[in-house]
Amino acid sequence: MSVQASFIPLSKWPSCHHKPFVIAGPCSVESEEQIHETARLLSQTPVSVLRGGIWKPRTRPNTFNGLGGDALKWLAEAGRASGLPSAVEVATAEHVEQSLEAGIDLLWIGARSTVSPFVVQEIADALRGVDIPVMIKNPINPDLELWIGAIERISLAGIRQIAAIHRGFSSYEKNTYRNVPNWNIPLELKRHFPELPMICDPSHISGSIDLIPHLSQKAMDLNFDGLMIEAHHDPAHALSDKDQQLTPAAVGQLIAQLVIRNLSTDDADFLDKLKNLRKDIDKIDYEILELLASRSRLVEEIGLYKKENNITIFQPERWAEIVQTRSRYGAEIHISEEMILDLVKIIHRESIAVQTRIMNDEK
Ligand code: PEP
Ligand code: MN
Repeated sequence: MSVQASFIPLSKWPSCHHKPFVIAGPCSVESEEQIHETARLLSQTPVSVLRGGIWKPRTRPNTFNGLGGDALKWLAEAGRASGLPSAVEVATAEHVEQSLEAGIDLLWIGARSTVSPFVVQEIADALRGVDIPVMIKNPINPDLELWIGAIERISLAGIRQIAAIHRGFSSYEKNTYRNVPNWNIPLELKRHFPELPMICDPSHISGSIDLIPHLSQKAMDLNFDGLMIEAHHDPAHALSDKDQQLTPAAVGQLIAQLVIRNLSTDDADFLDKLKNLRKDIDKIDYEILELLASRSRLVEEIGLYKKENNITIFQPERWAEIVQTRSRYGAEIHISEEMILDLVKIIHRESIAVQTRIMNDEK
């Protein structure tokens, strides 16, 4: 059964000054000087929160695993010295306790922890009775239920300042992105929890600095509330994630260049025109649905005909022909190949389901 979670909007979090709410700082805290210098430079930009990794969940052993203990103190002090609240990733109950003791202001749960309900529950139990903002990254695999479950566990522990962080999903195939964005997943999460603040982490989606501006703007246009960006005063010498860390000055520039659009307006002319355009869209959507229903009736007829003649449902040459001809036609009328492929796959899956029912006389 679903948990009735309630969330405090970002604008009421003590650390949020304006949209976008930007959390920036190094992937890892590497030295007292590094975190102080990065924090000092970030405090000259519109960044709201200083981040830093202390316990680094690296993919392989024998790489830099974070400094632990002392570095946690440096992070909290660098935040205080530069006037920025500090945030750290926690993965165990002990991390939560140490962070609270060090005076860290915000916590986040990393992608490798969100995948494990054991880990999330341990963190939730450690947070019971504590009032601190907690941000929850998506699990590394594209599993919306796990993400929802982690948010519910933290919410059941009594935390109300919760935000989700979208950092992309890992995939086996080599890709333009380090972690593919699959934007539909965070958008579905927002549909499930309409009040949940949403933050995008373009650094871990991109894996390199070049896609960060484009991803950040896209997140703003999809109505995300904020960004988490990795920043280092000397990225070339960073001990982890060096290809994706921006300098604090570059973070400032990035924020200055973002176009922040409104979710709604009272402008009557705009609303009127939008309403009419949407009416046209509605009409077309219903026509598409009618056409799909007509297509489905033909699919049924063909299913019966195949059954009478003892012919298989799936015929590879026909499927190959559909994909090829529809993609070619799509290109002619300027519909992207991606959309055509998604569309024909959904239609084909439904046709197979309909004909399977007919072959087996199921209702
Ligand atoms: C991080 O933010 O430094 C981090 C480890 O990210 P993720 O959990 O998204 O991999
Ligand atoms: Mn990192």
